[in-house]
Amino acid sequence: HLPTAELQALDAAHHMHPFTFGAELAEKGARIITKAMGVWLTDSEGEEILDAMAGLWCVNVGYGREELADVAARQMKQLPFYNTFFQTSHVPAIMLAKKLAEIAPGDLNHVFFNGSGSDSNDTNLRMVRHYWELKGQPERFNVISRWNGYHGSTMGGGSLGGMKGIHAQGGLPIPGIHHIDQPDWWSEGGDMTPEDFGLQRAQELEAKILELGPETVAAFIAEPVQGAGGVIVPPATYWPEIQRIVKKYDILLIVDEVITGFGRTGNWFGSQTMGITPDIMTCAKGITSGYIPLGASIVSDKIANVIDEGDEFAHGYTYSGHPVACAVALENIRLLEEEGIVERAGKEIAPYLKEKWEALVDHPLVGEAKIVGLMGSIALTPNKATRAKFKAPGGTVGYICRERCFANNLVMRHVGDRMIISPPLTITKAEVDILIDRARKSLDEALERINA
Ligand code: PLP
Repeated sequence: HLPTAELQALDAAHHMHPFTFGAELAEKGARIITKAMGVWLTDSEGEEILDAMAGLWCVNVGYGREELADVAARQMKQLPFYNTFFQTSHVPAIMLAKKLAEIAPGDLNHVFFNGSGSDSNDTNLRMVRHYWELKGQPERFNVISRWNGYHGSTMGGGSLGGMKGIHAQGGLPIPGIHHIDQPDWWSEGGDMTPEDFGLQRAQELEAKILELGPETVAAFIAEPVQGAGGVIVPPATYWPEIQRIVKKYDILLIVDEVITGFGRTGNWFGSQTMGITPDIMTCAKGITSGYIPLGASIVSDKIANVIDEGDEFAHGYTYSGHPVACAVALENIRLLEEEGIVERAGKEIAPYLKEKWEALVDHPLVGEAKIVGLMGSIALTPNKATRAKFKAPGGTVGYICRERCFANNLVMRHVGDRMIISPPLTITKAEVDILIDRARKSLDEALERINA
């Protein structure tokens, strides 16, 4: 390939990156990744980088699985595309829908395929509103979500999410979307116990429902563990109370499993880890381990039966149920299942990683270290006892830590002044040790810089 500097210049000149400061890209140049194997990335200079984010929380089976490439090639040769509109179907979509119905919890027996997590949530938004239209209650239009949640960056997904930076651009949120606070005890819990705080934040849902009028609320949407918001692990009291409230007011519960699905939290789905009973589950990312784009809305009998009895649901994407993506997803699920990847991650790697990860709390910069399965975060603070924020603008210290990690060939992401990880589920114990060593070294270097 071209020399790195030339690639970087072309990249800055022609390639518009998601969620990236253009000026910074032009000044520093992107790090160009050329290949990957297992949990390791290789850049255009031949450096080997430990990817503790599994790409964007998606490469659950790890990089370099030829089985997935082979299945994609076979499917492309046999049937590269056919749509699932207008009473046509094909084997990969049928078999994947059947498989997802088998592994999804409860009565989630029906699958609407999408192209990504964002457009899956757009599907969900339209589907829950349409459900109530068909039930003769069109006034049930409002959907409640959470500040700092992330549900994608389309008009629907970005509106459902509670990222203020996203809302500040392009006229979001769209009408009928309302937000409540998140259960982030570390940042906002003050003197309360995590349990009391979790209960209080869940009860904000009831207050919002009553404010809007229960007869106007279609659904509540949330991630089992808020991911892009900083891996916010809710107090144990939170989800049971949410579940009680949605049941009381007959409000549909959409659980966004785009990150937490397919083994990330130690079970197949975060709903199982958190004891949640969803009406719809949003899936993407780990459904194909990121090898090819695919999203899915997995829907309960209760909703699907109503939607199926109505006139046609006027919704769908050209790539809904794309045969190549469905074939890859099926093979990916086979690997996760038959190789015991989900089970091993949950039972063997998660406890090992938890012990090492939580021990980071002894570092002077780290106030809280939390992890569920293979999804963890540390909160950075100048004062652990008071859970204080840094004087520098929010995110400055997190950014320095991320830079140090990257310089030490470790991909960890920062969300404000939190550092997060979500490695491939196939990471070994020896690789966990490398991850933790590099994280510690990077934290030490960040501390030096902050104190300099
Ligand atoms: N929902 C959650 C919980 C996510 O974390 C993401 C992406 O990170 C999305 C939805 C959006 O998915 P996509 O980027 O595939 O559109």
